[in-house]
Amino acid sequence: MADPNEKLIADLLKKPGNNICADCGAKNPEWASYNIGIFICTKCAGVHRSMGTHISKVKHTTLDKWEDSQVSRVREVGNIASKLHFEERVPSCYRKPNQDSPDVLIEQWIRAKYEREEFCHPERQSHYVSGFMEGFLMKRGKEDPKYQPRKFVLNEADDTLKYYVKENKEPKAVLRISELNVSFAPAKTGNQNSLQISFLKDGTTRHIYVYHNESEVITNWYLAIRCAKLHRLQVAYPGANEQDLLSQLTKDFPKEGFLWKTGPRPSDTYKKRWFTLDGRKLMYHEDPMDANPKGEIFLGHTSEGYAIKMGVPPGARDQGYSFTLQTPDRTYLLSAQANEDRIQWIQVLQKVIDRPLTPQDASIAARLVRKRNPDNVKSCYGCAKD
Ligand SMILES: [Zn+2]
Repeated sequence: MADPNEKLIADLLKKPGNNICADCGAKNPEWASYNIGIFICTKCAGVHRSMGTHISKVKHTTLDKWEDSQVSRVREVGNIASKLHFEERVPSCYRKPNQDSPDVLIEQWIRAKYEREEFCHPERQSHYVSGFMEGFLMKRGKEDPKYQPRKFVLNEADDTLKYYVKENKEPKAVLRISELNVSFAPAKTGNQNSLQISFLKDGTTRHIYVYHNESEVITNWYLAIRCAKLHRLQVAYPGANEQDLLSQLTKDFPKEGFLWKTGPRPSDTYKKRWFTLDGRKLMYHEDPMDANPKGEIFLGHTSEGYAIKMGVPPGARDQGYSFTLQTPDRTYLLSAQANEDRIQWIQVLQKVIDRPLTPQDASIAARLVRKRNPDNVKSCYGCAKD
């Protein structure tokens, strides 16, 4: 190392706080913003660059040449002091991303921190913390995959998220904020700025897909739902630990993907279905973006007769990478596309059935109609063919 600044930067990178990305926490950051005075990972450096040099000036820690004044700046500030300033007032309902979070969430977190300085000026958070939001989102049709603009209104005071086909008419649907789940859905929709909203309707889950061209707007909707959920939980459970409440706001699906499953009779063949695990609900669909699952299995606790096992029972047909899900009502024979996938499914499902039921879990179990008969929307237990 002929350049003394190279050595100084290498030493700074070893300091606590500087050894992880200032924005997402990824280990061993290789980039820096030398005007802000922080070390960041490759992904976050891309976002910093996209904000323009009037906000952030990005440099590689070893491949670029450093001026003395630039080294001084990162020594003066560093990741810990920068966080204390730029993250001073992050509202607790805000989802701080990590390196595995959806890209749009990471991007908007970085823009909120440095471009809009939302956490230094809390009044700039009013869009998503106020408990009310309205605006147009593009919504995918229930049967028709085309997206249409729909007006959405979020109202924390009466726990509703409504959407309208015609503005002055009755809402097309009224969702309870406290009962819905929302997650980013870039892989399924092919759009970074998209959300999947899932809720229970007449005993079955309904999924809707929405997007907005601006990533800030879609992220604000996501955050507004989280903030409204938190405020309602704080009112309902005034003594509760905030950390416990935060874990209930929104949940990314622990796993989704195609599996083959048999029908209820031994002679039934394996059919390809899209499986989504959402909390204690294991849903299966014909197509990944179907508005309703064909069936949903509530996953109770091991003490109630729920079990997950490698392979199929003796005599049953094994379709490659099979495994068995035992519930008190029925045994499901499932099969993955590869062994690694099978092991992942077994691990995530085992984790769910090992976890004790919460009161909210029990209420979902009571309302969920386990099967959906395609010929009769009023579901009937045990009469579906799938
Ligand atoms: Zn990062």
